[in-house]
Amino acid sequence: MKITSIKSHVLRYELEKELGYSQQYYKHRTAHLVEVQTDDGITGWGECFGPGNIALANKFIVEKVIQPLILGEDPLNKEHIWQKVYNLLRDSGQKGMPIQALSGIDIALWDILGKKTSAPLYQLLGGKCNNDVPVYGYGMMLQKKSADELIDLFKEESKQIKSKNFKAMKMKVGLGPKEDLKLVQAVRDSIGKDFKLMVDANHAYNLKDALYVGKGLDELGIYWFEEPVAPEDYEGYRELKQKINTSIAGGEAEFTKYGWNKLISNKCIDIAQPEVCGLGGITEYLKVAALAQANFIPVINHVWGSAISIAVNLHLLTAQPDMPGGLFPSKSMLEFDTTEKNIFITDLPKEEFSILDQVKNNNGFASVTENIGIGINPDENFIKEFEVNE
Ligand SMILES: [Mg+2]
Repeated sequence: MKITSIKSHVLRYELEKELGYSQQYYKHRTAHLVEVQTDDGITGWGECFGPGNIALANKFIVEKVIQPLILGEDPLNKEHIWQKVYNLLRDSGQKGMPIQALSGIDIALWDILGKKTSAPLYQLLGGKCNNDVPVYGYGMMLQKKSADELIDLFKEESKQIKSKNFKAMKMKVGLGPKEDLKLVQAVRDSIGKDFKLMVDANHAYNLKDALYVGKGLDELGIYWFEEPVAPEDYEGYRELKQKINTSIAGGEAEFTKYGWNKLISNKCIDIAQPEVCGLGGITEYLKVAALAQANFIPVINHVWGSAISIAVNLHLLTAQPDMPGGLFPSKSMLEFDTTEKNIFITDLPKEEFSILDQVKNNNGFASVTENIGIGINPDENFIKEFEVNE
């Protein structure tokens, strides 16, 4: 079998209302799909992390930089292809967009392997460790409102997420240390003291502010404090982890086993959040997961994007053993978008795919299908309707 073409599809639509996190507001939702075609008729699908115009830059890297390097290769030689591409891009991009671009291609190669062998992805990853996976809802994004208005919105939104049966929920912060603690306090009061609540700063703070917020979160029984400081600030992460009781989570902006090795060996995090569509694809994710396992760090994947990304993550978590295991182990969770209807999740696949229904009907759990490969194939007409080139 040979790779005959690699195409990128950047999809975009305008949101009804602008949403934000600590770094920016955004009014469009994007997804970047990768389609790898072969000479025996099998097409594999993957997805690259990278929102907004980053997706357009990654499309160029996929089609114009990486495609010429691997046309004609056997798509089943995933390891060889990964190493070849990484080695040739190494001098120009060991992190960031080149690796995001490579991720989408690698994921598509795993989809091809599944289709070639008629096996669902989780079987290729070692089989089932879990019949189903608990799901947490992320929402409570920032909006261009006053802090008081946001408090009222978050109180209401947190109640809604809880009512949908999610096992836990995650909120954004980023208004400033004092306002952020007020916001978290309001959500905690709204959902009660026993519901799992996570707080995501998207690296909004310097170390001093992160320590202040972290100490406040310790009082509020927060399950994890996500990306408190800049991803390059390994020292800051380590100091924070030593001084704060709340678990420190991070890694969505870390790349490859080389970056992850630094994050883990510097003792920066209590919870690892690898982003499979960004860090180098499934081939590299498995190595990162092994690093985390060897250091007894729980892995709770960062999930962002379309139904393809969500399905890939559900397969990965289905095949992930508990760490360290036991009769009542602490389980990993699938992250899921609860913000305004995301049609890249609901309307993109040809297959039946509803995490929300599963969560509602199965007490907060979701499970993989037995469809071969990733199990999600995008509708061509849907792609045509939402595809953009600039
Ligand atoms: Mg995050």
